[in-house]
Amino acid sequence: MSANQTRCWSEAEVARLVDWRRDFHRHPELGFGEERTSARVAQVLEAAGYDVRRGVGRTGVVGVRGDGERTLMIRADMDALPIQERNVTDYRSMKDGVMHACGHDGHVAMALLAAERLAAEPTGGRLKMVFQPAEEGLGGAKAMIEDGVLEDPAPAAAIGIHLWNELPVGQVVVRSGPLMASVDEFEIVIQGRGGHGAIPQQTVDAILVAAQVVVAAQSIVSRNVDPFQPAVVTFGSLHAGHVFNVIAAEARLIGTVRTLNDADWKAMPERLERIVSGVCTAFGASYELDYRRINRATVNDASFADRVRAVVTDVVGEANVRQDVQTMAGEDMSEFLDRVPGCFLLLGSRNEARGLTSPHHSPTFDFDEACLPIGAEILTCVARQFLSKTERD
Ligand SMILES: [Zn+2]
Ligand SMILES: [Zn+2]
Repeated sequence: MSANQTRCWSEAEVARLVDWRRDFHRHPELGFGEERTSARVAQVLEAAGYDVRRGVGRTGVVGVRGDGERTLMIRADMDALPIQERNVTDYRSMKDGVMHACGHDGHVAMALLAAERLAAEPTGGRLKMVFQPAEEGLGGAKAMIEDGVLEDPAPAAAIGIHLWNELPVGQVVVRSGPLMASVDEFEIVIQGRGGHGAIPQQTVDAILVAAQVVVAAQSIVSRNVDPFQPAVVTFGSLHAGHVFNVIAAEARLIGTVRTLNDADWKAMPERLERIVSGVCTAFGASYELDYRRINRATVNDASFADRVRAVVTDVVGEANVRQDVQTMAGEDMSEFLDRVPGCFLLLGSRNEARGLTSPHHSPTFDFDEACLPIGAEILTCVARQFLSKTERD
C-alpha cells in the first residue's frame, strides 16, 4: 500500500504529514527537552481549535476538544535518542549526537494530522490528544499522569501507535492482551577481596564470582519460567579489574529483565536475588543489588482491541492485520493502559526494496513514510467510531 492509496487524505494533507515528520526529524530533542517539538505541537492544536495545556509532565502537551460524556485519548510520544545519525538524507538530524531513531517523529506527525481532521468534524464525545515526552526510559508517561493527564476529562479509552520496522509497510499489529514486555533494570555490585594475581589464596576474586552469577542467572529463564511464557534476563555491562596481574576486588554488572505476565514480573526480583546471594555466599563475597522497575508490560484491552481491529481491517484489509506479533521491547504506554482500557498498535514501516530495514535505535534507522497516512487514518477512524453519537456500550 502506498501513501496515495489511502482513502482519507488529500495530496496536500499527505505532503503536510511528511513535512511535519521531516521537520521533527531534523530537530530531534531528548526526553524532557522537547521544547521546540512541543511548541510546534501546541501551535497546530491551537490553530485547529483545541484547548491546549502545556507543560504537562514537564514538556508534554495536551489538547482537548468536543463535549459529551465519552472521551478518547490519543497518545503520541515525542522524544529522540542519544544516537549520532548515519543516514544521508536531506532531512537528517541537524543536532549532533541526537536522533529520532525510534520513529517518534512519525508518531507526532500522524497524531497531528488526525487531530486536525477530527477538529473539523462534529462528534458525540471528547477527544484528548496527548503528546508525551520522554518515553525512552525516562518516565514521561508517569510524569504526565502525576500532572493529571488522566483527569478532567478522564478518558474512557486510550490508543497509541508505534511504527514497527520489523514489519512491511501496510501491515498492522492489533493484539489482545500483552503486546510488549515489562522493563526492569538491575545493578549488582559484587565485593570480593583484591590481591596479587599470582597469590589467589589470599583473595576473593570478584571476576570469578561475577562470571558465576552471569551463568547461574541464565537458569531463571531456562528453569524457573514456564517454557510457554516468554522472559529475558540480559546482562548489558560487566566491569571489573584493570590490570593483568591483580585480582579484582569489585565487579559491577548491569542488566535488564523482561516479562509478559504478572506472575513472572512479580517473581523476578526475588529469583535474581536468590542467585546473587547464593553465589556470593558460596564464594565468600558480598553484594549489593539494586532492582528497579521501569515499566509494566503493555497490555491491550481485549474488547477495545476488537473494536480497533475492525477499524484497522477496514483501512488495510484483513490480510494485513496481524495478531501474532509480540515483542520483548517495552513501552511506557503501559502506564496509561494500566489505568485506562486501550490498545497500542504496531504499524509496519519497513521497505525492503528501498533498503529501509534498519532496526529501531540504530544509527541508520529510517522508515517508509507511506506508513504515516495509514496510521493517521487509523487514529482518525477509531476516534470517529468511538465518539460517534450513535455509539453505545
Ligand atoms: Zn525506542
Ligand atoms: Zn519508541
